[in-house]
Amino acid sequence: MKVLLVYPPTPETFWSFRHVLRLVSKKAAFPPLGLLTVAAMLPDDWDLRLVDMNVEPLRDDAILECDWVFVSAMLIHKDAVVELAQRCRALGKPVMAGGPLFTANPDLFPEIPHRVLGEAEDVMPQVVEDLRRGTVQPVYQAEGRPALAGVPIPRWDLINVRNYATMAVQFSRGCPYDCEFCDIVVMNGRVPRTKSPGQLIAELEAVLARGWRDMVFIVDDNFIGDRPRTKILLRAMIEWRERTRSPLGFLTEASVNLADDPELCELMVKAGFRKVFVGIETPSVESLTECHKLLNRGRDLVQAVQTLQRAGLEVMGGFIVGFDNDPQDIFRRQFEFIQRSGVVTAMVGLLTALPQTRLYQRLMREGRLETESTGNNTQASLNFRPRLGREFLQAGYRDLMRRLYEPRAYYRRIRTFLKHHQSAGRSLRVSSGDVRAFLRSLWLLGFRCRGRLAYWRMVVSTLLLRPRQFRQALELMIMGYHFRCVAESL
Ligand code: SF4
Repeated sequence: MKVLLVYPPTPETFWSFRHVLRLVSKKAAFPPLGLLTVAAMLPDDWDLRLVDMNVEPLRDDAILECDWVFVSAMLIHKDAVVELAQRCRALGKPVMAGGPLFTANPDLFPEIPHRVLGEAEDVMPQVVEDLRRGTVQPVYQAEGRPALAGVPIPRWDLINVRNYATMAVQFSRGCPYDCEFCDIVVMNGRVPRTKSPGQLIAELEAVLARGWRDMVFIVDDNFIGDRPRTKILLRAMIEWRERTRSPLGFLTEASVNLADDPELCELMVKAGFRKVFVGIETPSVESLTECHKLLNRGRDLVQAVQTLQRAGLEVMGGFIVGFDNDPQDIFRRQFEFIQRSGVVTAMVGLLTALPQTRLYQRLMREGRLETESTGNNTQASLNFRPRLGREFLQAGYRDLMRRLYEPRAYYRRIRTFLKHHQSAGRSLRVSSGDVRAFLRSLWLLGFRCRGRLAYWRMVVSTLLLRPRQFRQALELMIMGYHFRCVAESL
């Protein structure tokens, strides 16, 4: 059996990092982890080829040579998937599709005749059996939620890891909280399930064996959803890291109550974690109540961010505007909050109603849902009728984004961050790629782009005052270029 696994092209978003990939000599931000994991569930004697369309073009020859095309996609890939399905049909090749896009929209995509809905682990043996017999069903619906003990090590041999800016592994699925807008709890449930420490370390060793020596994104919904297990994992990672002198660094996603647990923060930093993405959402208490983000209420969120920074973690923040309870001055409040906290990478999005979420159902009941979400909440588009008014929100959002990523405000945030951040642990080694990225960024940000003066001030002051933090500052300066391009294109 010849299977072609295809990951569709991701449009430009905050998370695509497209504008900086060239500077760091990479082709895509993250590898297609879901597809690599599914590939590992297929029989060893099948002939597999993977084409990540973010890295290389998909040629007709590759489609014609295979027996089946497997596609994995997220909501953001909707348009690309329709195009891909039409192409495969025209070339006479059957498609099997899976991933969040199809699970969240089981009734869409009539052009794709075979789909795996839900988490694939438990149904893949049946899929393989049916493929062998030629009795493939239109839908394989996973019942319940699989334990992660049986998840195989992703087939890293199917990609060239050097094409990617960051590698990815997964430790847990699910989150115990219940935010109204969140589709993670719909798809992965509220009871976190984890792999064993041995499993995760075996995955990290597999990544190392492919020659990877840089950052690894632990792509959990909430890395601290089950804190006791997370601590067990971290102790094992620390022991492994010290024993093997592993050069890997980590980033992940976690809820803000990480700041309440100094032991957990310390373990994370010792295990090599450098960055954490935290859903901060909004400084408006009424809006936090509305969306049921109760763990963010009743705490000083700026303090929480700075506690994490002092512990040695860079905080990337998710923010949302467009809640019914947002006050008229929400844009000013978000701007001031973000500047004060030193969250340099602030992913601000307009509220969007994702399929099957509680928000989606409420807006439907209230007759306010207008279209399906594109899955990209950083596009200044709304798929429901907002209380503050569409034009007001969209104009305010565009303005907020431009102000946040305009060089002076952005570099000011880097300074605030560097002031609070406690550099801990071993530094990642400086590679020849880092040196090249530095030289390219010098040319781009220091000579060609707007904000040159602010850039040089930032470079010189960091070299003079905080030379140990220069690598980190440089990385943020380079990332800022991507965010600025996205903000200016809104
Ligand atoms: S804390 Fe994050 S992952 Fe958990 S329900 Fe809320 S938004 Fe979703």
